[in-house]
Amino acid sequence: MKTAQISDDKIILKEIEDITLSNRKGAILKVLGCGLCGSDIVKFRHKISPNGTVLGHEIVAVIEEINSSTNFKIGDRIVTSHHIPCFECTYCRHQSYSMCEHFKSTNIFPGGFSEKVFISEEHLQNVAYIVPNNISEEEISFYEPLGCCIRAIKRCNLQAGDTILTIGLGSIGLLMSEGLKALGYKVYGCDLIDDRIELASKHGIESFNSRNFEEFDKMIKNKTQNYGVDAVFMTSGADKAIDVALKTVRKGGKILVFSSTPQNYGYPNNEIYYKELTVLGSYSPSPADLKQAFEFITLGKVNVKNLTTTYCIDDIQKAFDDTISNKTYKAYIKICNK
Ligand SMILES: [Zn+2]
Ligand SMILES: [Zn+2]
Repeated sequence: MKTAQISDDKIILKEIEDITLSNRKGAILKVLGCGLCGSDIVKFRHKISPNGTVLGHEIVAVIEEINSSTNFKIGDRIVTSHHIPCFECTYCRHQSYSMCEHFKSTNIFPGGFSEKVFISEEHLQNVAYIVPNNISEEEISFYEPLGCCIRAIKRCNLQAGDTILTIGLGSIGLLMSEGLKALGYKVYGCDLIDDRIELASKHGIESFNSRNFEEFDKMIKNKTQNYGVDAVFMTSGADKAIDVALKTVRKGGKILVFSSTPQNYGYPNNEIYYKELTVLGSYSPSPADLKQAFEFITLGKVNVKNLTTTYCIDDIQKAFDDTISNKTYKAYIKICNK
């Protein structure tokens, strides 16, 4: 079967032996396609994952072989995520599901950029759903990323009517803003790329270029009776974004960190202290967040139409290159034969 693997500075196509179920519980899936996640780019570019790694986890697939006590059957078109918490350890008991050792050790095998994957019985029980016919595979491929966003929003414990600023309007920033909007918050967005601002505006998110920061800051203050926003969601990994967040958040407000930065930039002690800020991180979704994401997409509560550019797996290198150079907003890798 065809896979795409990391090989030094390239993503190469490699045939490996077909995977089969043998005597395991779980399912073999024929992958239809898989979204290219920002975290895949980070793992590739910063050489976090070793050679031979098959990246990709935002998969849409059809069940080809199954041995399960669930109701799924051969031919079902499903979406699934890759990690499942144990629900029992100290982390899980404190709702830090993504810190759970079991969460980190579970995965789809070998990875989403592959003709076939194996998922376990636990995946089928906790994080897999049948995709309704009226939802395209590209739309439902936002299931896992939207789940991540929903978790971040929940972690912030916002109040009804709160005003939020999303910094960064890439696909995750847009998804986050869509999620916030669907949950009833007032959302503003900012970025430095005009195309992204335009797209977010089309999605009903009042968005601005923050390049001229003084002007932008004044506008945010104007819109918030001079307080600043109740919370800032950091979906941009640019170091300057931290500064924007600290200046636009109100006293007593929250900053949700949702992206890595190239270096370990910090949040200043004294601003956190004197302005009584809450700075919190959110990483990966729990099964409950994913369930809500599935509902949001299938019930049309978020608009994820026409956001992806489709690449055949044969052109996966180009998908990575175009994403890195911001030519492509969100790549969807279709498992096809050219
Ligand atoms: Zn992802
Ligand atoms: Zn656990």
